Amino acid sequence: MPAARTILHVDMDAFFASVEQRDNPALLGKPVVVGGSPDKRGVVAAASYEARTFGIRSAMPTREAYRRCPEAIFVKGRMAVYSAVSKQVFSIFEDITPLVQPVSVDEAFLDITGALHLWENDPVRIAEHIRARIRNELRLTASVGIAPNKFLAKLASDLNKPDGLSLVPRTQPEIDAFLAPLAVGRIWGVGKKTEAQLSRHGIHTIDDLQRTPLDQLIQGFGEHSARHLRALSRGLDDRPVHERDTEKSISSEHTFDQDQTDPAVWRACLLEQSEDVGRRLRKGGFWTQCIHIKLRNDRFETITRQQTLALPTRRDLDIHHTALALLQKNAPSRPVRLLGVGASPLTDTPVVPGPQQLDLFSEPAPIAPPSDKLDEVLDALRAKYGKNALKRGG
Ligand SMILES: [Mg+2]
Repeated sequence: MPAARTILHVDMDAFFASVEQRDNPALLGKPVVVGGSPDKRGVVAAASYEARTFGIRSAMPTREAYRRCPEAIFVKGRMAVYSAVSKQVFSIFEDITPLVQPVSVDEAFLDITGALHLWENDPVRIAEHIRARIRNELRLTASVGIAPNKFLAKLASDLNKPDGLSLVPRTQPEIDAFLAPLAVGRIWGVGKKTEAQLSRHGIHTIDDLQRTPLDQLIQGFGEHSARHLRALSRGLDDRPVHERDTEKSISSEHTFDQDQTDPAVWRACLLEQSEDVGRRLRKGGFWTQCIHIKLRNDRFETITRQQTLALPTRRDLDIHHTALALLQKNAPSRPVRLLGVGASPLTDTPVVPGPQQLDLFSEPAPIAPPSDKLDEVLDALRAKYGKNALKRGG
């Protein structure tokens, strides 16, 4: 039995949209959609709570958002501003504990077990302190879940959104009772598809899931998924909070035998590296929201450039498009000696279930299949027949 932990999940409310409303009071109280204009291809990166009442959600095509609410105000995202605000938010977290694991630019897990004694062993005091600083210093709101593990903390932060606080009880019978009435869709990783599948088995609430005999679950979902679902239905999750500075990054670099001046060679190299990074993200069960490239020229001058994405991804083509765009923006004027592509920080929690997309603020959107499927098929074939078994066209 591992020692009892106290974990916070802090999630900024409608982050990008709230920053827009804060910085432009004309947007206050209005349906605001961040993610470009409705006549272009793209997806919603964030919607204000006013826009959400029209059914507008993150990752929805902007066109669909426009159909639901033509009077919504569509604003182009300002990633650089959101990144800067995100740094301020995280520095508030890090004043409490070094054990901060970012989930995305606007949410994180904090393991406050070791800090509790400084706060009269009251996690609510820590949560309220963080919320007050975010409100007073940044004029934004955040919702917090407090729980014995990451799964429950994340689920809890969502229960009283926006500007809310939820505390999950600590004992197993209380946790079972707390979860029982919730829809199975509240379970992390249970997307629309699994939800529909569970519903065909008559499982709608977490209570239903707790009561379904394990062998029946195994028949319907396979051993692995069944055990996983069962554990989550009881709120069990022992994954640690990964500290930010010990957090892994994944990168792929190549030094050319001869310095290269041909952009086609650079692009081919970036494609191969992007696929390598994507494959390793998928293998490790990670997503990333920040892609970087590294360039070294014949004079050994090295630069790194990075791009924060609006949504986490682990798709080869998202990584490749971002790396290419960074290369284009920083086109080398001298022969290139070394090229690299990397992803960091990493997260084990995709924020938006379902299709992972990017390029929300610029067009054209990458033309890519809507899921990881193709990537997964390629991974499997390469594992079997070797890395060079299949290549994408450049
Ligand atoms: Mg958020």
